[in-house]
Amino acid sequence: MGIIVSLIMFLFIGRLMWLQLLPGTATSTAPVTHARDNWKRLAVVQRQRSLVLDTGRGDFVDRYGRPMTGETYMTAALFPVRPTIRGSEEQLAALAKLFNVTYTELNNRWNAIREPEFWHEPKQNNPIRLTSSQVEKINGLKVEGIRVLPYRNRYLPGFDAKHIIGFTSQHPEWLKEKHKEKLTFGKRKISEQVGGSGLEKSLENLLHGIGETSVSYFIDGRNSPLHGLDLRIVQPKNNYYPLQVVTTIDLLLQNKIEHYADKQGLKEGAIVVLDSKNADIVAMVSRPKLKPGQFRSGDGSEWENHALKAVEPGSIFKLVTAASAIENGVVERHERFHCDGEYGKYGLSCWRDGGHGDISLQEGLAQSCNIVFATLAERLSGKQLQKTAKSLGVIGLIGWHSSKAYGPFPHPFRLLEEEEDGRVFSSELIDEEGEKIDGGAMAQSGIGQRDVRMSPLQAANLIVTLLNGGRVKEPRLVSEIRYANGQRMAVLKRRDAAVGSGRIKLATAKSLLRGMEAVVDHGTGRSIRQGQWAVAGKSGTAETVKAGVARNHQWFAGYGPVQAPRYAVAVLAANRSPGSSHQATKLFRGVMDIAAKHEAVKSKPAT
Ligand SMILES: [Zn+2]
Repeated sequence: MGIIVSLIMFLFIGRLMWLQLLPGTATSTAPVTHARDNWKRLAVVQRQRSLVLDTGRGDFVDRYGRPMTGETYMTAALFPVRPTIRGSEEQLAALAKLFNVTYTELNNRWNAIREPEFWHEPKQNNPIRLTSSQVEKINGLKVEGIRVLPYRNRYLPGFDAKHIIGFTSQHPEWLKEKHKEKLTFGKRKISEQVGGSGLEKSLENLLHGIGETSVSYFIDGRNSPLHGLDLRIVQPKNNYYPLQVVTTIDLLLQNKIEHYADKQGLKEGAIVVLDSKNADIVAMVSRPKLKPGQFRSGDGSEWENHALKAVEPGSIFKLVTAASAIENGVVERHERFHCDGEYGKYGLSCWRDGGHGDISLQEGLAQSCNIVFATLAERLSGKQLQKTAKSLGVIGLIGWHSSKAYGPFPHPFRLLEEEEDGRVFSSELIDEEGEKIDGGAMAQSGIGQRDVRMSPLQAANLIVTLLNGGRVKEPRLVSEIRYANGQRMAVLKRRDAAVGSGRIKLATAKSLLRGMEAVVDHGTGRSIRQGQWAVAGKSGTAETVKAGVARNHQWFAGYGPVQAPRYAVAVLAANRSPGSSHQATKLFRGVMDIAAKHEAVKSKPAT
């Protein structure tokens, strides 16, 4: 028995010596080395208390370099040191006064902490923001266990959470699945914030960077600081990270439109502003609004970017039907249609009681006459309508993408991951030849009902396509990715979309633009004729059903100024009660007026 016990004892002692004394670089099989390194690292972790000052995550700027995320300010951190060594009663009373709390409250809060903590104002998520005089005073007090440190805050004060940027939150499951190895070797932490939507998600691998900056505070077993070794800032040594993502957003214009959308009470929907020359996304607003700090609350539906969700476009789609009719020669040059308010089949009628009488195609577009477009759609085959829709970029996905490896991007890569496909027919309905569509389905589809879907991004891009003579571009949200030292890591070149079947004729595009001018001049958009810029566009009201209740999607898509187009804008006011005022038309004019004033300020020479 004695020999057996002694042997076991020797085994344990031997194992302990091996772990404790053998150098970590000893050559043995790789997994053993890693396990030992990890064990030693954990032993150090036990003796230090650390606090993250900067996650090292990349930041976003707008097209003029204005920061959209990320700022550094000075804050105060408390470390869990014994009460007796913190300082005298006078010192602590002075500190309490600086924090605007009582001496007792300061001590109580300090005594309660087990891990290092930033000092917070009540009900604030972020650490306290110190003024330079507060910094000076706290440093002057020389209290043990409190330090003034620079803190990197991701969301700027007054930051309106933006769907395009997205959010970060803890995703332990995702990390376990995708980065198991990095977790094992401590390269990533299970508690870290990762991108959950928007660009934060699609660019996660680049934004993540190379590690956080943290401050460690070494204490002994009795919670006293180890002098000479007490505070150590650990930061990754690298000139290239964190990265900076240059977006195409004009932050001032974006913020003005966000504010305007709230003032006008846009509850659900989106506003998309594109540069009409190149389809760069200048502003993109989605509602319901995000509440900063309350990320991932409720069912997460507030995170849906409605600018990228495809819904029934209603009469906006008449632009596509008109284009297809002209391109396929199913409408005579001076043809007159007759609308008496009823189509006479499929239960289809015009929105205007009594009808529009004798009416041309252009007037039909201006007045958004259902009879004209149902008639034209029935003359077309499903295949013809679908082909034109594809030529105009309203089928499939339209946002900037790379189909092959492109710089640091994997392939295939999409900047706007949440974008939904636009379509004309549901896939079950149309066969290869597109001949199965019956007249009723064609008539309904021609006026943007039935299975037709389009996202506000696609609607705005359709306007850009028409303004560019039928050339379809891929809306871009990011123009460049830069290293921390300012060098370029990647340039996202503007791209034309591959529409396959070729673009529409310039004359067709021009004829639709004239139609949109007529809409605002004397048609369904005449209520917004007056304003800063002369504008043109197309209104739409699509019938839909939400939770068993009849609802309307109200649309307006157009451009301005008419003489020299600068912006293409699409507005969607989703799920409005039938019979309510047309909010999208009003918002379109408001956004155009904001854009006009914004341009006027921008072009003023600097003094
Ligand atoms: Zn009509």
